Amino acid sequence: MSNLTGKTALVTGASRGIGRASALALAKAGAQVLVHYSSGATEAQAVVAQIRAEGGRAEAVSADLSKADGPHALAKRVIDIVGARLDILVANAGVASAASIEDTTVEDFDRLFAVNVRAPFFLVQQLLPVMREGSSIVLLSSLAARSAVGNLAAYASTKGAIDTLVTHFAAALGGRGIRVNAVAPGVVDTDMSSFARTDAGREMTLSMQALQRVAQPDDIGGTIAFLASDAARWITGDTLRVDGGSKL
Ligand code: NAP
Repeated sequence: MSNLTGKTALVTGASRGIGRASALALAKAGAQVLVHYSSGATEAQAVVAQIRAEGGRAEAVSADLSKADGPHALAKRVIDIVGARLDILVANAGVASAASIEDTTVEDFDRLFAVNVRAPFFLVQQLLPVMREGSSIVLLSSLAARSAVGNLAAYASTKGAIDTLVTHFAAALGGRGIRVNAVAPGVVDTDMSSFARTDAGREMTLSMQALQRVAQPDDIGGTIAFLASDAARWITGDTLRVDGGSKL
């Protein structure tokens, strides 16, 4: 693992799941981590406590990213804490809902795009003034963006939008020395994919993977910390599949 000592990082949705694992991995590599949450204050404080207990630096920051001004409010709080320099942004917070085309409501569709696409877009916009040469942005895509798994058309299209943002952000920000990438997990054992904790869900998951176990959040967190690090200095504009060889 590369050394992130002296770097500052924001991980959104770090109270649980992949965000939590990413925050822990970044802190382990030496970064000061801002642990963002929305409803999970207790969980976020536990992540902060764990990082501090291991000798790291962390603070919790909250914002509801389903609100139009959520990213703006979060960016302000972040800048109040880190000052004029944020090195790593992991825009991980996300929501999912499985529904057929017929059953998808306008409200669900709008919420998915608000949290999964609008929030990362405006968070990047609002934090750009404090992101300098050498900074790294990591967004969260999904296996669902490239493969028709489950009843996920609306959710999957938010992740397709993330892949598109990666391309355009990376092209626009490369001149400033800022790298932009995404990771695309398959099924990961988190609250979002809790179906994988059932026998049927586990069987379905393993049936489409080359590697025969269900992914844990830290399988993804380590890759995110790698993409944030100098070891990945020549990688930008890419969506990295981190899915145990799903749907090969
Ligand atoms: P998770 O366990 O359900 O955690 C979701 C996180 O997002 C929580 O920390 C939650 O914060 C935050 N969040 C949700 N709604 C929010 C809102 N309105 N405002 C601010 N934060 C909000 O999910 P996960 O599985 O770790 O997923 C993390 C990312 O990976 C998502 O972008 C997801 O689409 C992507 N992904 C997941 C999988 C998978 O199988 N799990 C696969 C591919 C991609 P609070 O709890 O504090 O409210």
